[in-house]
Amino acid sequence: MPEGSTEAESGTQRRTPQWGMAIDLDRCTGCEACVVACSSENNVPTAGEDQSAKGRAMHWIRIDRYYEGDFPNIRVRHRPVLCQQCDEAPCEPVCPVNATYQNAEGLNVQVYNRCIGTRYCAINCPYTVRFLNWYPPEWAEPLGLQLNPDVSVRPAGVVEKCTFCVQRIKRAKLNAAAEGREVGDGEVQPACVQSCPAEAMVFGDLSDPTSRVAHLANSRRAQRLLEELGTKPRVFYLERAD
Ligand code: SF4
Repeated sequence: MPEGSTEAESGTQRRTPQWGMAIDLDRCTGCEACVVACSSENNVPTAGEDQSAKGRAMHWIRIDRYYEGDFPNIRVRHRPVLCQQCDEAPCEPVCPVNATYQNAEGLNVQVYNRCIGTRYCAINCPYTVRFLNWYPPEWAEPLGLQLNPDVSVRPAGVVEKCTFCVQRIKRAKLNAAAEGREVGDGEVQPACVQSCPAEAMVFGDLSDPTSRVAHLANSRRAQRLLEELGTKPRVFYLERAD
């Protein structure tokens, strides 16, 4: 479990949170509300029908489906997959311009104005959660009016991916600092977490043993995706009980 450190902010010592997420696969129904919320919050363009037919995709979170059994006794299992914010991220050492790195809060950061679009990171990511903008993003009117002013619109030739809604993290930290307190557990809700009707996703500080996400990450059901690769993801999946 990541350990928190302290940082000086406004003259007071504050703990540096270690962000992570838990996703309860027993609760996920595969409704994809999280996918829509993520695209809307983060100005993620849609690949469109023609590009999708060529195998191109653009979404920071997707729902993987697995089928068990034979018709008519088929069971469908869903797994939301987003950037796993790995502590040993395979995308980081292969970037020739250091556009992706892990920050002090454990986030796998993507610096858009440094990215030169080689896609080495996307190729080296075992979770396939990084996407290159092949074309300048466009929104048919009036959809352009819905763009989130807190988030940049990435130009063509740039690789982008989930940030755990870093703009919401930043806002919560600023509010907490202005009020002279720590960010509370559950105060930061990435768009996917906020929109999930089944409350399958929990986000918070893994280094705070009292946080909900830390409890879930220590659950006997908690597993990490492709953990055997040694990537040390910060997303914990609570596997189904049955
Ligand atoms: S919104 Fe919640 S229930 Fe729906 S697909 Fe996403 S994680 Fe699953």
